[in-house]
Amino acid sequence: MERLEQKAPGRVQKIDPRYTSQTCNACKHLARESRESQALFLCVACGHRAHADVNAAKNVRDTAAGHAVAARGGFGLPEPVNREPQRDLLLVG
Ligand SMILES: [Zn+2]
Repeated sequence: MERLEQKAPGRVQKIDPRYTSQTCNACKHLARESRESQALFLCVACGHRAHADVNAAKNVRDTAAGHAVAARGGFGLPEPVNREPQRDLLLVG
């Protein structure tokens, strides 16, 4: 029996696997130290413990679903007019 695994193509999102494997799925705390071992994830912040792959997989799922990336707009204030600081004439002496 053939096993054709056709996972929806074209829906690929760029998610850095390093972060998902180091981010606590319970409290979203990101720390390398939480990665207790290759197989075990133990959050240094809240103590959440899970299989590292499971924890990472949940993070990937959450990231893909939520896509909660705050867009930081670069268009803020207009460029300040470059004005020469005028010395207070009263203080010149
Ligand atoms: Zn945690």
